[in-house]
Amino acid sequence: MQALRHALRSGRLHQAYLLTGTRGVGKTTLARLMARGLNCEQGPTDVPCGHCPACIGIEEGRFPDLLEVDAATNTRVEEMRELLENTQYLPVAGRFKVYLIDEVHMLSRSAFNAMLKTLEEPPPHVKFILATTDPQKVPVTVLSRCLQFSLRPLPPAQIADRLRHVLEQEQLSFEASALPLLAAAAQGSLRDALSLLDQALAFGGGEVRQEPVRAMLGTLERSALLDLVRALAESDGETLIACADTLAEHSLSFDHALQELAVLFHDLALLQAIPKAPALQDSARELGAWRERWPASTLQLLYQITVQARRDLPFAPDERAGFRMALLRLLAFQPGPPVPLPAPSPVVPFAHPTVPDLAPAPAAAPQRARLPPAIDDWAGLVERLQLMGMTHELARHVEWLGMTQHQIRLRLARKFAHLLPYQENLRTGLESVLDCDLRLSIELGDEEGTSVAQQEAQTQAQAHQRALQTLAQDPFTQAVRDVLGGTLVESSVKPLPQGEKS
Ligand SMILES: [Zn+2]
Repeated sequence: MQALRHALRSGRLHQAYLLTGTRGVGKTTLARLMARGLNCEQGPTDVPCGHCPACIGIEEGRFPDLLEVDAATNTRVEEMRELLENTQYLPVAGRFKVYLIDEVHMLSRSAFNAMLKTLEEPPPHVKFILATTDPQKVPVTVLSRCLQFSLRPLPPAQIADRLRHVLEQEQLSFEASALPLLAAAAQGSLRDALSLLDQALAFGGGEVRQEPVRAMLGTLERSALLDLVRALAESDGETLIACADTLAEHSLSFDHALQELAVLFHDLALLQAIPKAPALQDSARELGAWRERWPASTLQLLYQITVQARRDLPFAPDERAGFRMALLRLLAFQPGPPVPLPAPSPVVPFAHPTVPDLAPAPAAAPQRARLPPAIDDWAGLVERLQLMGMTHELARHVEWLGMTQHQIRLRLARKFAHLLPYQENLRTGLESVLDCDLRLSIELGDEEGTSVAQQEAQTQAQAHQRALQTLAQDPFTQAVRDVLGGTLVESSVKPLPQGEKS
């Protein structure tokens, strides 16, 4: 607290904070606490007094210098602009004008741009506290101006305790063994746990017993997964991604969903091979409709993709992104409409669906049998290729091994083996830029850190490390981290422009 006070007095405050975390984890609560800390008469402090006009005003939602915006319902750019025009006026009752923008990722692009102008040159009396469940959707230009805190989900035991407390208060009958199931399904969100508890009470006729709860949770997940497989079978990318969102809304774990998907593909494969497999009585009816949809070899591939995606989940930017990518990969490998890989699959629903994976190769000049020129700068060449999508990823991740006459030798780390189908795109791209005929040979192996992607990552890591060191010495950061229980998202740390004091 001393450190925080010192930090505030010395003006070492960030202009904008971004609180991230799953729904119901307490982002808005923390944001209001920060607003009180900034404006409390006893403060600035990390322990607001709770009885000064500022504290009471904020608690009762009538403090003129706290402007709360729910971006989910209020994304019109005019309103945003109007709101931001107010930043030039000094606070009327408090120390700081605090803008609390909830679900900030829902802002429209133009609203973001309006906000960015203020974020670039914020008046000293203005603080932004942004909250989001989905930082992936916040533009990098905004992210880079925020100090990011990710709120930890509540541990399951704590959630179970809370549920027990509620049930006891309401004098409802329950089996203690049912509570950890609900707590686990809620994945750290108390709000979700309470909603699941409501559903369990409805499902169990006013009481909470272990077996019905297990059945209820299983049913929720099963039906979401079957929807998902159906969308896949129909190559319906939009529905597929919507299914991922449904899973998230039901707080079902992505890890578990991938596991269950693998089970489904296993069941399907087994059903194909042994139509009357006795172990599959339950699912046979549901799955029977899709028995003919996938050739056995494709089922093997789909199974492999889900198992692999589960292993990769900890390395994904976040679990939802990892899960989505797995779904998109499953989609990319759907047989028919008959577009042979590695041509870009038209059904992959990227945000910009019209962007092809590769600019169409110019009509091949048949007389061209020229040797490729010597290549001494692979990174520069990759840039000139102007590839997109997965082909671009492939080019960024291969390591240069050398070339002989018509052949370019590259190495690709095994973990990127899924990019191999795009080598034909890469080859034609190289041919057209180098105006020659060539073959590609890409061997799988251990990477040595020479790929374009790794070189970039190293450069960034060095700058990031320097910024982290600076920030570690910032007392306000420490105070928020220690006292309010936030975890600094290290990736949000960016070097400040020269001359700007944090
Ligand atoms: Zn106070």
